[in-house]
Amino acid sequence: MTATTHQALDYQLFINGTWTPAASKETFDVINPATGEVAARVAKAGLEDVEAAVATARQVYDSGVWSRKTPKERADILNRFARKIMEHGQELAYLEVISSGATIRRAMSTDILGIAFVLQQTAAFALEFPYVEGLAMTGASNNQVWREPLGVVAAITPWNFPMILAMWKLAPALAMGNSIVVKPASYTPLSTLKLAELAIESGIPAGVFNVIAGPGASIGEALVKDPRVDKVAFTGSTEVGRRIMELASGTVKRVTLELGGKSPAIVLPDADLDLTVPGLLYGFCLHSGQVCESGTRILVHDSLYDEVLERLAQLASKVKLGNPLDATTGMGPLVSRHQLDTVLGYIQTGVDEGARLVCGGKRATKGELARGYYVEPTVFADVRNDMRIAREEIFGPVASVIRYSTVEEAIEIANDTIFGLAAGVWSRDANKALKIGRELRAGTVWINDWHAMRPDAPFGGYKQSGFGRELGRHVLEEYTQVKHVHAALAPELKQRPWAGMLF
Ligand code: NAD
Repeated sequence: MTATTHQALDYQLFINGTWTPAASKETFDVINPATGEVAARVAKAGLEDVEAAVATARQVYDSGVWSRKTPKERADILNRFARKIMEHGQELAYLEVISSGATIRRAMSTDILGIAFVLQQTAAFALEFPYVEGLAMTGASNNQVWREPLGVVAAITPWNFPMILAMWKLAPALAMGNSIVVKPASYTPLSTLKLAELAIESGIPAGVFNVIAGPGASIGEALVKDPRVDKVAFTGSTEVGRRIMELASGTVKRVTLELGGKSPAIVLPDADLDLTVPGLLYGFCLHSGQVCESGTRILVHDSLYDEVLERLAQLASKVKLGNPLDATTGMGPLVSRHQLDTVLGYIQTGVDEGARLVCGGKRATKGELARGYYVEPTVFADVRNDMRIAREEIFGPVASVIRYSTVEEAIEIANDTIFGLAAGVWSRDANKALKIGRELRAGTVWINDWHAMRPDAPFGGYKQSGFGRELGRHVLEEYTQVKHVHAALAPELKQRPWAGMLF
């Protein structure tokens, strides 16, 4: 363990509204990726803790204390939860920074405001949701379609945006009346644990929202296999997503999967480079490139190729790497030593494959940076789309620039990937860009922008980037099921069409 020069925080599991040690009393360390120091010690859940969390969530769901509240009662509490989050914004942002390496600049703005806004927007959508729909009368019966909660949801989240990705599942699950057990990634459980405490203070009944931290391979799999869990909402790698889908089949569970990406950004010959070049860098350097929808394949037309490369290298040198708690830092560290090794390994692969390194390509070790897991913004030129650095998700600040000659060729390269999370076009001609957008097989298309999300717009993947949608109105369908209720109105046997079938 790394020596600490500060007091590490202590966190337990949050089950049935109470801070709870792991049954085994074991803990694990959360490391601050900017310093390598232990930021927190967290109770390490085992199978007994999964049992306790799922049993509580199930019992509370069945009791109706949350599931049978009116939509308005639930929406009021969720809005209170949003206000609590704003009041505790600084603490939540701090927890996110010291575990995930998010910059405080981003965490305090888009993350905190973003999750509060998601709660408010989801609560508003839930008030307009068609819980009961009457069908047209075609005979002597009253027919209705009821939409009901699923029951117990297990949410399994990754380490890159722990708070945001937990909220994308929590908000719709809670709004629709489900109970939930969240299993955050072991690098970053802190903000999710804090959210559970704030939920109780906001009036969400104990046991509705539980958090257990620990290894995915044991407690994650136990959640997926548990017959009392009705749905698994997963965000993470495509590899683990496949495994979850396979395991969920044992109990024919619903699954939504938000997985990896290798998103193409097409730069058309008429692109405004004063906007496009900073936009491309933002596309692959936000959160040190650890974003599922990062624009990591940059497709540039022949006519602009050399200029784009030169300007990318120039601007990349201006991104300030530093401690993410410093408000002037633009790019923080990668989440872990392991991720650092993975990213450096891919950079070596790019070199070995014959791609040309235009800038970056190294671990950043100047001064204080040497303590953390920093990588310089890295651009590869002369990349072919069949190289590994163009096909696999690197999850670091590394872009592969690919040259093209015609729009048809650009679209073909853009779609030549197993992923389909996002894609984008940079052009001065909006109509041309929209036309290309129609050809791109991805769940989100950005034109002259990147990473732009809003709580009323759905987010999710095409192809092996997953299925199901988060955010937007569509997400409420993912946390409900439909029931058809037929009430016959004719009292006499002889008026029933089936009377003559059997007797
Ligand atoms: P990961 O797949 O390794 O882990 C995600 C979560 O799954 C963690 O909580 C982990 O503990 C758990 N887990 C691991 N093995 C498991 C198993 N066998 N059964 C059940 N749970 C298990 O992903 P990560 O490294 O934490 O995150 C990075 C990945 O997430 C990237 O591939 C990225 O593209 C993806 N991601 C996708 C989106 C999206 O919305 N599409 C958003 C963010 C991240």
